Amino acid sequence: MTKTILLAAPRGFCAGVDRAIEVVERALEIHGPPVYVRKQIVHNLHVVRGLEAKGAVFVESEQEVPEGSVCVLSAHGVAPTVYAGAKERNLTVVDATCPLVTKVHVEARRFARQGKTIFLIGHAGHEEVEGTFGEAPGRTIIVDRPEDVAGTEVPDPANVAFVSQTTLALDETAEVMGALRQRFPLISSSAKGDICYASQNRQNAVKAIAARSDLVLVVGSTNSSNANRLVEVARDNGAESYLIEDEQGIEPGWIDAAGVIGVSSGASTPEFLVQRVVDFVAGLHAVEVEEVEVAVESVRFPLPSSVG
Ligand code: SF4
Repeated sequence: MTKTILLAAPRGFCAGVDRAIEVVERALEIHGPPVYVRKQIVHNLHVVRGLEAKGAVFVESEQEVPEGSVCVLSAHGVAPTVYAGAKERNLTVVDATCPLVTKVHVEARRFARQGKTIFLIGHAGHEEVEGTFGEAPGRTIIVDRPEDVAGTEVPDPANVAFVSQTTLALDETAEVMGALRQRFPLISSSAKGDICYASQNRQNAVKAIAARSDLVLVVGSTNSSNANRLVEVARDNGAESYLIEDEQGIEPGWIDAAGVIGVSSGASTPEFLVQRVVDFVAGLHAVEVEEVEVAVESVRFPLPSSVG
């Protein structure tokens, strides 16, 4: 039986990921290997292995980088203490933080200057959340679900604000925002919200394919927040869905049982992995491939001046 593959568009690399990878490549060209990279530059194993092969050395902390070396900071952003630690070690810092994450840090600093208690909507332990939290750790409360809001205590309920992680699911985040607004009617926030254009577009594209698919495969690494959200969005919209690192994660039984198979990928997933998934399915069954495009993206971010 012929299977239909619906390819979500947009999918894969966003402007922040494109830029972060180019930053490491430019830093390697300018300074020569090794160039140290604090944390995974973007959350994808294939990207990390590819950059390692070119001379990048990935470390967990700036404290592991030899004094005086070049250190690239990942797309997810860091707390001010990381810049301070890098300065103490006399590191040449190349900052690959996505400008849309930097925007959230700027908001958090502004709210902190205004003396507000800041609710940070996001997943505790995720690198982006750690970085944003670090802007004002004494006045920031991380909330993940609407239920988290009820038990929180703040010094002045009239002087509170919220910011969010950039890669959350739109619908779930709206529920947390609703709970915050109900409990704190005067709460401040950014006018447009903090979930980035790339996360929104990829979720909308997955919604569109999930409505027509029996199965949605999302290609991405397990530590990719936005890829995990795509799986949730697909399931919430009626499709069976799995996160797979690459085609080796596919169980042939999933394909056998599905007539229409949706495929998408996280913002840090290279397109060649999506093609490998399509080829794998085409190796099992005859396929017809249709692209379902819900938005056209033209966003580009300039490189930081240190490597531009
Ligand atoms: S997913 Fe959004 S916030 Fe994250 S790097 Fe891409 S554009 Fe930036």
